[in-house]
Amino acid sequence: DWLKLERFDLVQLADETAEMLNATFGRTIRVHTPKSDVKLIADKDKIRQLLVILLDNALKYSKEAIDISMQVAKGTVRISVADKGIGIPEDDMPLLFERFFRVDGARSRTTGGVGLGLSIAKRIVDLHEGKIDVFSKAEHGTTITVVLPQRK
Ligand code: ATP
Repeated sequence: DWLKLERFDLVQLADETAEMLNATFGRTIRVHTPKSDVKLIADKDKIRQLLVILLDNALKYSKEAIDISMQVAKGTVRISVADKGIGIPEDDMPLLFERFFRVDGARSRTTGGVGLGLSIAKRIVDLHEGKIDVFSKAEHGTTITVVLPQRK
């Protein structure tokens, strides 16, 4: 199978990932979690990769602190990554999850990247039978939410 399922605490994984990126890039990722842990049965390496993709994008396309939060509801875990960066033009939204798609313009040349991150993120979410959605407003920021079955 494509997935190596194991049971882990998503709060701990998010804390570790945020700490690693903060140390690497000298930025601030704030982690907002429920009081208790968030147990999840999923492919831990792939979920880590998913978090890195979303957080790295938020860091690349914004200058301020970014926020990752998670909630548990009705057998699902909702993760959201929010930035107050340059946002995504409405017309480009349907193309975001395509391989090699990058929003055009000077911003792409200065940030670098090949346009694979979000297509990989979507693939990881699909493999877990989850859902990924983008809410964005040009010049105001972007929030990406992922809903995964908890399977605990
Ligand atoms: P990489 O392959 O290194 O991730 P990338 O960031 O260009 O490169 P994707 O992660 O697939 O590729 O993102 C596709 C495009 O969507 C980006 O080029 C960028 O224009 C836009 N985008 C993604 N996340 C954000 C964000 N948080 N804020 C603004 N634009 C974003």
